[in-house]
Amino acid sequence: MDILAAAEAIARAQTRVGPLIEGLAASGKLPPSLVFAGPEGAGKELMAVKLAAALNCVRRSAEGPCGAGERCEACSKIRTLEHPDLHLIYPVPHGEIDTGLPLVLESRREDFFARGEFGNRGRSIGIDLVRLVIEALSKHPFEGKRSVVAILEAHLATAEAQNALLKLLEEPPASAAIVLVTEYPDRLLSTIRSRCYEIRFDPLAPGAIAGFLEEFYSVEKEEAKRLAALAQGNLRRGINLLEERFLALWKDAAAVVALVVDGKSKELIAEAEELAGYSEARRRNRGYSREDIAELLEEMTILFGLLIRNRDGRLQETEKGVLAEAIGAGRLAAAAARDLPGDVRKISAAIESLRRNADLELTLSHLFLDLTHAWY
Ligand SMILES: [Zn+2]
Repeated sequence: MDILAAAEAIARAQTRVGPLIEGLAASGKLPPSLVFAGPEGAGKELMAVKLAAALNCVRRSAEGPCGAGERCEACSKIRTLEHPDLHLIYPVPHGEIDTGLPLVLESRREDFFARGEFGNRGRSIGIDLVRLVIEALSKHPFEGKRSVVAILEAHLATAEAQNALLKLLEEPPASAAIVLVTEYPDRLLSTIRSRCYEIRFDPLAPGAIAGFLEEFYSVEKEEAKRLAALAQGNLRRGINLLEERFLALWKDAAAVVALVVDGKSKELIAEAEELAGYSEARRRNRGYSREDIAELLEEMTILFGLLIRNRDGRLQETEKGVLAEAIGAGRLAAAAARDLPGDVRKISAAIESLRRNADLELTLSHLFLDLTHAWY
């Protein structure tokens, strides 16, 4: 994938934020510290790459910025994430910045949307990573005009790291732009947020996601439209759905929702046992981990979200099509009579329990019975 071309596609798709960032960069009035906030899969990380290109492209002035056909020297290096003034800082497992950061960068170059370099191991942005930022900023930009430091998943910064970051933001170097990228800006210190110019990203439009899948993943037009409807504004989700593992997860989530709507509590208990891995056959076939189950429950909340919007007549035709295909058109009316927001709350609580290490099978059967009101 041409990462810069992908970033430009996102800048066009983000019809409000794209021109805003482009304009700030072009005017020379870009604030030194920014927060890119907004939902998953809105293109925040790619926009940070785009910002680096906007600030450092050497052909910009007379001939306009360079395009995908022929890139200037600066943009060519940004395209492969090799520009010395573009610093991408990712959370890594504790004490592993020397190996962890290059590993993530390598993985991004290979497939920008790939994830899970460290499996289920905990990652954070520790004080050592912030020191790395400070060191990088103590030098003048090597080649470009203004260096860009993007701190990804900035909410994973430890308290110590956030305090060090705060000191940096109190006197940011004029030759740099520091971008904190996060889905959870409220997990940043309020003193950090108050020093940053916060840019809120919107979820991407289905048409933009479909176009992206066609252009960068060679997905055929109709299929791209279908996946975009399922993606619900989240490009990452759209890309995940190209994977067999994720698709199986989505189908299992849909099967559970169908059983819930039908009130089949006995079958749901069996499903809870199987999903939790008590059935050897199932374990061999699927091998869902605790994280996978949490993901499956998240897929259920997406399905219930679709059911809510369907009940309120707010679904587009393609969305309605994929929903009907997932749980069966005949169940839509019965589902509309449910307390759907209540269902979503119950599922979200179960996800929280799983994240707190509650027993897998117990949590699932409790949830499924709760959803069918079938306690015995
Ligand atoms: Zn350029």
